[in-house]
Amino acid sequence: MHSASKRTLMTAAWVVGHEAGKHILMPRGEVVYQDGAILYVGHGFPGEVDERIDCGQALIAPGFIDLDALSDLDTTILSFDNHPAWRKGRVWPKSYMDAGPYEMYQPEELVFQKRHAFGQLIRNGVTTALPIASLYYREWAETVEEFEGAADAAAELGLRVYLGPAYRTGNPYVLPDGGIELFFDEQRGLQGLDDAIGFCGRMEGRHGGLVRTMLAPDRIETCTAQLLRRTSAAGRELGVPMRLHCSQGEFERKTVTRLHGMSSVEWLESLDFLTDRTLLPHGTHVSPSRFAPGPGRDLEIIAERGAVIVHCPLVAARFGNGLESFASYRARGIRIGLGTDTSPPDMLLNMQIG
Ligand SMILES: [Zn+2]
Repeated sequence: MHSASKRTLMTAAWVVGHEAGKHILMPRGEVVYQDGAILYVGHGFPGEVDERIDCGQALIAPGFIDLDALSDLDTTILSFDNHPAWRKGRVWPKSYMDAGPYEMYQPEELVFQKRHAFGQLIRNGVTTALPIASLYYREWAETVEEFEGAADAAAELGLRVYLGPAYRTGNPYVLPDGGIELFFDEQRGLQGLDDAIGFCGRMEGRHGGLVRTMLAPDRIETCTAQLLRRTSAAGRELGVPMRLHCSQGEFERKTVTRLHGMSSVEWLESLDFLTDRTLLPHGTHVSPSRFAPGPGRDLEIIAERGAVIVHCPLVAARFGNGLESFASYRARGIRIGLGTDTSPPDMLLNMQIG
């Protein structure tokens, strides 16, 4: 195709460029690209171009990387006007669990969810996404089949993804008196991990490298030690990122302390789960901070191990949470990435809130 070798110059009110080791904002900047590669970012491109596109009052920027990209409906939003959440069924009632939970969507609906979400991500400037979804309406965990479908959807839409079906050994449920307990089925979780490992082996690098893989055990309080130890071993062997929601709330903090006698981060350290490829949404309820009174080494451990906090400012703010503080985490040398974790996945809004 002739258009493949066309040289295009784009301008807009604002262009994000890079200079002397950091990003800079260029008013009325220019971006020149050809054959899928960026040739130039700056002002006054000296060469010939075949086409000029003025994007007007817009921002041209590198694609955002969303480390916690919601790939289904936002069940949290649905419950906001109806607190407490457990009354709306965001935690399974014991009676429902005893009756045998079931898949509330058809397999093709689960694939469509992701296709729809990927379209939203692209519209919001996200070009690399690590999907996350709720498990409340699932029979137990996510499936390999829907993620194979998700890989095709990502390839078709041109979104770079790191995919891995979520798995877990446990699930919280609510008692008639409002108390929350945990049910564990370790075999089921370990089978989910085996399936996820198989998925990584088959899918890593598919579609010209657009599809990558990860291991995604569900939130920490629903994982047994064995599941996390095996995940860590597999993650190292496969060389893929491992993502685990932790240090995100009071229920988790109390549950992990009750079950394991230490904080979430200390427990992860003891299980050898923390590497420079470990992604930790949300990282607010860590020691020392106002969410975890008293002395504690959580932040020190995360910094030492080089793990990444996935900061989701908007979602955290909705619950009155936040990093305490972003600057102090950075000063400790902690690596921080961003996640939107809600719908729509508005990364600019997240940065403003953050
Ligand atoms: Zn989250």
